[in-house]
Amino acid sequence: MVKTTDKKDIRALSKEALRDFFMAQGQATFRGNQVYEWLWQKGAHSFEDMTNLSKEMRSFLETHFVINHIAVDQMQRSSDGTIKNAVRLHDNLIVESVLIPTKTRTTACVSSQVGCSLDCKFCATARLKRMRNLQPDEIYDQVVAIDQESRLYFNRPLSNIVFMGMGEPLMNYNNVLKAIDKITAKDGLGMSPKRIIVSTSGVPKMIKKMADDGVKFKLAVSLHSAIDEVRSRIMPFNETFPLADLREALIYWYEKTKSRITYEYVVWKGINDNQQAVDALVAFCKFAPAKVNIIEYNPIGDGVFSQAAPEAIDRYVETLERHHITVTVRRSRGKDIDAACGQLANKQEK
Ligand code: SAH
Repeated sequence: MVKTTDKKDIRALSKEALRDFFMAQGQATFRGNQVYEWLWQKGAHSFEDMTNLSKEMRSFLETHFVINHIAVDQMQRSSDGTIKNAVRLHDNLIVESVLIPTKTRTTACVSSQVGCSLDCKFCATARLKRMRNLQPDEIYDQVVAIDQESRLYFNRPLSNIVFMGMGEPLMNYNNVLKAIDKITAKDGLGMSPKRIIVSTSGVPKMIKKMADDGVKFKLAVSLHSAIDEVRSRIMPFNETFPLADLREALIYWYEKTKSRITYEYVVWKGINDNQQAVDALVAFCKFAPAKVNIIEYNPIGDGVFSQAAPEAIDRYVETLERHHITVTVRRSRGKDIDAACGQLANKQEK
């Protein structure tokens, strides 16, 4: 194998930087455009693929650069059609991404970090140490891989993307933003930002920064409780970023973007299945226009958390609706292959 360590990842270069590189070599700058197109639109895995460049040019590039492409190591298919990819990165670390098909959509659920630095007690990914942030191209490649699978298995392109895989996207904000830029760019995948949701545990400072940056994608917050004491118990991260700070950041977000927030919410037995929890959520939903997605709990085998009774969920739905707050109850997908929310934990590695 070629020693890759001292070569530069060519996909860290912008189109301008590529053009400049060719100019500096005394070559025509349009070569930069060609290479860029190979890398980002045609998904080339090697310089050999770039057939409109001369052989000399291709081996010249080979001596200077690497293409750190991801490889789908293992693909699992659920009985409900969900597909989970175990994705190997150039340094042999693994992340997972998921394709979720419905009648009308194909959604990609992508990872933003290897492991996660947060320690949400109900999430399997939290048991993995955060190893590193993903690079923009590593995020982009997950999307491309799922788009290809969607075309292959469902005869349609990918329609939506959610940043709900491994990691906390707002703790790798710059790279997530660069990946989304590429995903939405005309010379990338050309997807509408309105079809992209970034999900966060709620880092107030970064939510404000996103609002200031004028991002066009949607925001989801994994809320799970609108009572500090309860939320801190299940998401210890809440002690550093309490609900008052989150609330302030969300109000700021809405004022700047006018984009409604989605709260993700799991109802657990004995934790947030009481009336007080429901009332707190209703109150929290009134600070800024929001809708609630109640997610089914996916057991992670710790015996501590369990899905609340259907009556508890009904109580949430009825109360929220009475207050004119949109609420949906989402069934889990891909449970049989550990591809559902909170189950991504590189199990096949063990
Ligand atoms: N760190 C980001 C992205 C992860 S998204 C965030 O927290 O939003 C994964 C979503 O699945 C989050 O809403 C998370 O709270 C939820 N989740 C985690 N573990 C789960 C489980 N065992 N069952 C159901 N949902 C879970």
